[in-house]
Amino acid sequence: MTYQRLEKNLFKRNDYDKMLELYQKTLKTCPKCIETRLSLADFWIKRGNFNEAINQLTEAKNLQPDSKRISYHLLKLMLERNMYEPAKTELENLINDAGETEDVFSCGECHYSQREFFFQCPGCGSYETVQNYF
Ligand SMILES: [Zn+2]
Repeated sequence: MTYQRLEKNLFKRNDYDKMLELYQKTLKTCPKCIETRLSLADFWIKRGNFNEAINQLTEAKNLQPDSKRISYHLLKLMLERNMYEPAKTELENLINDAGETEDVFSCGECHYSQREFFFQCPGCGSYETVQNYF
């Protein structure tokens, strides 16, 4: 994506300030832009500022509470940083959500669905057709 290319170029030149400026400017005009927040979180991870990264991910999560992708990202970061207490809360939320949602994983070919992830569809036997796992 555009961001990644731009980021790569700016990182190559060690132009972190300009990059941060760009993110902040974008978020000012589009505070609900989740992809920007996720990119900014990655930016902070690369810069070693994990608290800021977690702040951005938490913000993104508030904007899109159902996003498993953001939850996994947040959880991974918390576990890497030995932040077991917030990780435990996040994990509990994920487990509760999973309990409430039926038929989370479904096959793109035959629409077979089940609560557990699958590589090979138990319905039609196709491989890697599973959808909606984020
Ligand atoms: Zn299938």
